[in-house]
Amino acid sequence: MPPILGCVADDFTGATDLANNLVRGGLRTVQLIGVPAPGTAVPDVDAVVVALKSRTSPAADAVRESVTALDWLKAAGCRRFFFKYCSTFDSTDDGNIGPVADALLDRLGAEFTIACPAFPETGRTIFKGHLFVGDTLLSDSSMRHHPLTPMTDSNLVAVLGRQTGRKVGLIQHRDITGGADAIRARIDALKADGISYAIVDAIDDHQLHEIGEAIADLDLVTGGSGVAIGLPDAYRRRGLVGTTGGSAAEVPAIAGKAAVLAGSCSAATLGQIAEWEKARPSYNIDPMRLANGEDVAAEALNFIRARMADGPVLVYASAPPETVKAVQAKLGRAEAGEIVERAMARIAKTLVDEDGVRRLVVAGGETSGAVVSALGVTGLRIGAQIDPGVPGTVTLNEPSIALALKSGNFGGPDFFAKALAAML
Ligand code: ADP
Repeated sequence: MPPILGCVADDFTGATDLANNLVRGGLRTVQLIGVPAPGTAVPDVDAVVVALKSRTSPAADAVRESVTALDWLKAAGCRRFFFKYCSTFDSTDDGNIGPVADALLDRLGAEFTIACPAFPETGRTIFKGHLFVGDTLLSDSSMRHHPLTPMTDSNLVAVLGRQTGRKVGLIQHRDITGGADAIRARIDALKADGISYAIVDAIDDHQLHEIGEAIADLDLVTGGSGVAIGLPDAYRRRGLVGTTGGSAAEVPAIAGKAAVLAGSCSAATLGQIAEWEKARPSYNIDPMRLANGEDVAAEALNFIRARMADGPVLVYASAPPETVKAVQAKLGRAEAGEIVERAMARIAKTLVDEDGVRRLVVAGGETSGAVVSALGVTGLRIGAQIDPGVPGTVTLNEPSIALALKSGNFGGPDFFAKALAAML
């Protein structure tokens, strides 16, 4: 049976986060890196997630890649589709969530979908269309300082409305508490009003299951990984996937040296770096030295090699918001990001090619994308969850490398050590 669900994710860690929730729901899931070449064999799984690196691309590029990914998934036999973005709705007024969702709806000939980044387990909840991160509104959270997609408006109806020419509505808490039938009735009413997108309130996993039942027949669902939590059961009730679930998370064990790379400047990552540095070695990459043409990557590699026998080393460029702003003022936002990503990618590639590293923890969505591209990874088997939103993974192609790809704000303070232990 071909996969039921075909997903397009706008970054690499977002893709693993989604795959993690599908695996937890009992769907055997593979993540493919980038749009597969035509003719690539379709994996024998229930769900395929195509991981793009389109979150901060120019909107036209993001649209083109996303539609190409959708076409591949359609050709692979998928019958339901999912556009995954960040649970903090990372985007600018120029896109890319609105333009990509518009293009996917058009391609599928569909007129309606939902937009729901809620992921209560990681503190992302939506009430009256406003997105909360923990106890604060999105616009009061550390996301307002994000290096690439600063989020300064918590009202998702307004945020998405600025990114699309289509009408955006809301499915409110009071409809959600009415359960799947009430949600379906509200969807019908919104469609009758010519509304194409519904932001969906959700504050707990029970609600996500009700929402999952209500949206399981939509051609396209858009959202964070949380809204996928209710889909596996809903598909099973419809006979679209098998009923077994026990072994969905099995991946081979990988032995070999390990390293941790962090390019995320998110608050959770900064805390994880501080925790690591209490007892373990780390090397800090200075973007200004990279911009001056100094061979900082070689220095980092020397630092790692001198200590590798004693255990993994952390290499990070991550810095607090004031420092990042100062660097961006001098280099430009995109250039600052890219020189750091290039350095991280080179370090990762060298460690794998020349030093026998086979286990890597990477912090940051863009950073993970750069690392995975440099390693030539074509796909990942998704294993058991390490922390909410982050599964252990193993590359599909040789050499087999264990990867824990962490979106910036995910993971507890001891995430790096925990991931390394889980990947053995
Ligand atoms: P997150 O998942 O937290 O959003 P990302 O890796 O997606 O993390 O994005 C962080 C971006 O910030 C990357 O492009 C990275 O290269 C860049 N970056 C990392 N360190 C610095 C720094 N010190 N100054 C400026 N930009 C940086």
